[in-house]
Amino acid sequence: MIEELKILVKMQKLDDKIGKKEKRKLELPKQLKSLKENVSNANQKVDAVKQELEENLSLQKKKELEIQDNKAKMDKYKQQLLTIKTNKEYKALNSEIDFLDKKNNQIDDTRVELMEQEEEAREVLSKSEAQKKEADAELQTKEKKLKAKIDEVTKKIEELRSERNDLAKKLPRQLIKRYGALIKNKGRKAVVFNENNACGGCGYKIRPQLQIEINKGDKIISCESCGRIIVSKEIEEK
Ligand SMILES: [Zn+2]
Repeated sequence: MIEELKILVKMQKLDDKIGKKEKRKLELPKQLKSLKENVSNANQKVDAVKQELEENLSLQKKKELEIQDNKAKMDKYKQQLLTIKTNKEYKALNSEIDFLDKKNNQIDDTRVELMEQEEEAREVLSKSEAQKKEADAELQTKEKKLKAKIDEVTKKIEELRSERNDLAKKLPRQLIKRYGALIKNKGRKAVVFNENNACGGCGYKIRPQLQIEINKGDKIISCESCGRIIVSKEIEEK
């Protein structure tokens, strides 16, 4: 019986390794996904700033045209002033010229604000483009490595599985089934050690009679609470 227990302990050790590798295998694609997300976020940022800049420039253009329009009107009115006959008409035209002049000052203030915003947007754009370049480069260099790592881990898991399955062949069919069910249902822990007379899996206290049997190592003893197979730590030395 000791031999079977030893095999079970070895199988559990292999399953511990498989568990770790499988965790790793799940993490690697996440890293790749996060790198791709960085690139896509950087692209979105660049596009958004470019659009903001475009809108700003077209608004500036519009304001310039408005100013030119108003100036042309003012010039026309000033010409008319020279030919005006009555005082009333003179006053009316002059106040229209004043109004346009004030309006142009306001538009010009807005234009200056837009130019300041343009400058800020250009700074943000150049930063975003640098970030985009960085994210692209990072993805390029890491993507290949990550894919190779995923392949490597997959291969390692296969090797560990086949090693474990070779060991399992030495056990009776019923015991393999029991081991497999525990691995599946008990968080990948089928075989645990007696930890200070408690189950190494769930911590349930082991009865003295069972402690004796576990120490003898000539029977397969299960935890009365979680059902995992409990073995003595000395089993590896026997
Ligand atoms: Zn237990």
